[in-house]
Amino acid sequence: MADRRLEALEALLTQMKGCRACPKMYPPVVVGPAVLSPVLIVGQAPGVREGPADKLFAWTAGKTLFRWFDGALGLDEAAVRSRIAFAAVARCFPGKLAKGGDRKPDTDEVLACRPWLEAQVTLVRPRLVVPLGALAIEQVLGHGGPLAEVVGRLHTATWHGLDVDVIPLPHPSGVSTWPVTEPGKTLLARALEQLARHPVARSLQTP
Ligand code: SF4
Repeated sequence: MADRRLEALEALLTQMKGCRACPKMYPPVVVGPAVLSPVLIVGQAPGVREGPADKLFAWTAGKTLFRWFDGALGLDEAAVRSRIAFAAVARCFPGKLAKGGDRKPDTDEVLACRPWLEAQVTLVRPRLVVPLGALAIEQVLGHGGPLAEVVGRLHTATWHGLDVDVIPLPHPSGVSTWPVTEPGKTLLARALEQLARHPVARSLQTP
């Protein structure tokens, strides 16, 4: 059964790779490897370096993200990438802003990419979802307010037909100062403690 799901996921990612629905987005579509896991990380959108690497979080934000996971669960990048599924609200690079940092996917792009995300979620069937940053958190929890209202707490949600636990984290991008200033620093530490204690996340410590 898992073999069939994996084949279907591989087919989905191949199909996704050919998507050119958003005129302002820069291909390639970043799909990464097909991984079935009870834990799903949801990012915002790939950066300029992720396309050539064909994997999400392949650059500086990834270094921070993998440091967080190593600290919480004792899993290095290779273990996280092989045992945890990765997705994003949008799967193409949106381009740079003149003032620095990456452009946030707009509403049309989020809506255009949602069927891909939903199809991936349906096949992966996560029990724990870790959305990174405001845009991903809004997609999973429907929360559009300040991060401080949701980070540091364990949530439950019904998302794309699945009942899931949700541990929201700030985006690990170096552009954001939220994780390193209060109250973000304390709330991030609390969220990582929840990740370290969560039985579904802990189940990944044994391959
Ligand atoms: S962002 Fe998503 S919907 Fe838009 S072109 Fe890329 S894969 Fe397609």
